[in-house]
Amino acid sequence: MTPYPLIEQRRKMVEGQIRARGVRDPRVLAALEEVPRHLFIPPPYDRDAYEDSPLPIGNGQTISQPYIVAVMTELLQLRPSDRVLEIGTGSGYQAAILSRIVSHVTSAERIPELAELARRNLSALHYDNVEIIVGDGTLGYPANAPYNGILVTAASPDIPQPLTEQLADGGRMVLPAGGRDLQKLMVLERDGSSVTSSEYGGVRFVPLIGEYGWSGEGS
Ligand code: SAM
Repeated sequence: MTPYPLIEQRRKMVEGQIRARGVRDPRVLAALEEVPRHLFIPPPYDRDAYEDSPLPIGNGQTISQPYIVAVMTELLQLRPSDRVLEIGTGSGYQAAILSRIVSHVTSAERIPELAELARRNLSALHYDNVEIIVGDGTLGYPANAPYNGILVTAASPDIPQPLTEQLADGGRMVLPAGGRDLQKLMVLERDGSSVTSSEYGGVRFVPLIGEYGWSGEGS
């Protein structure tokens, strides 16, 4: 039994964990209030869905902390007509948030079971503007490029070159880059042929495994 309805839990989450820490984009706040995070988390962890933390989703992976999802989404500075690429679908929560804000989301996941789980979660909610690709997201997905926003939700040792190439003019990429255990949140912005970058606070993500990421689990 939940002590109060789930919509109330989401409102509390948005007020206490997200707005209180400085996220202001109204469309980001509305999306976090709308998307039922508990449906993206397998039991028994779903009962903690509106807590301030990442949680296990199976296959050794996690759903990101709601605050981090909000901050990374806000940093993309998205417009409704934008097309976005996400790397690291997991169970599909971040893709669901993006789908409420932009016109089309492409999301790449390397673990087929998680991609399938995300497809089921998104289709149950009729979030039909998300295309899920199975494969190495460090290569991007040229078929749908260029992207106005690229969001990497796993820890990268560096900026994957194919992703920079697939960023539209004026587009932004947000990613955790640095060590395997601790990274800095980075924002890259393309202006014609030049790309500028800025750094935000420290974050901790599971590793991005692939040709332009880390070489494999535990190595
Ligand atoms: N975005 C998810 C959410 O909404 O909660 C969280 C994703 S989890 C922190 C990181 C995901 O990145 C994992 O599911 C992992 O399998 C995936 N991943 C790691 N390397 C990848 C790669 N090269 N391409 C695609 N997905 C990758």
